[in-house]
Amino acid sequence: MSDIYYQLRISARAKHARITIKPSHQIEVVLPLGMPKSEADKLVGQQKQWIERTLVRMREQRPIQRRVFPEYIALPAIAERIQVVYVEKQKKAVLWNSEISQLSICNICNDKTCRDEAPVSELLRGWLKVYAKERLPDLLKRVASDMQVDYRAVSVRLQKARWGSCSMQGNISLNAKLLLLPPQVVRYVLVHELSHLKHMNHSAAFWQYVAQFEPDYRKRRTELRQLSMALPTWVYR
Ligand SMILES: [Zn+2]
Repeated sequence: MSDIYYQLRISARAKHARITIKPSHQIEVVLPLGMPKSEADKLVGQQKQWIERTLVRMREQRPIQRRVFPEYIALPAIAERIQVVYVEKQKKAVLWNSEISQLSICNICNDKTCRDEAPVSELLRGWLKVYAKERLPDLLKRVASDMQVDYRAVSVRLQKARWGSCSMQGNISLNAKLLLLPPQVVRYVLVHELSHLKHMNHSAAFWQYVAQFEPDYRKRRTELRQLSMALPTWVYR
């Protein structure tokens, strides 16, 4: 089994198995209808070096795409897709319409060529943090109840590298960027932090405890590492 995380697509039109890497850095394997799924793992295993080289190259090229603003923000964690519109004038810099899942950003100067990148990505990050504060606590509550553990409080921050933390006092801190990850990976992070309520370390006993609730934790950890490097550009400072 390869440790590269990919999406599998079965295509009636495809004649051969192939791998593509999307601009979002998502790896997709396309298999012709009827080909056994094990072929996908095999192909990814064979092409591992090429995949890694390509991802490195794409990451190095990221600065070129820095001025691109998203038209949509995908939040796989909660299965939502947010439309982003850029307007010349409005009451506040960011207007959030939850009824139609639309985010309206004021970019002051409507001339696309002189739109200032820093403020817009900052506005998007600010909104993400506010929205994550609204949505992440419920996800945590649900997982904690599955695991039958109690935490004291939860806070949501927008951190660079940490996905979450758990204090000695039982306070859980979560990264707002979790909303951008697929639900199974978010669940792993939540299980991980909640498991620290029982084991304040990363001992064998800790991982055993994690495995009770997330038997695939190794795979999730790999996915998390890969996806961390493939987040939309506006997320980074
Ligand atoms: Zn930990």
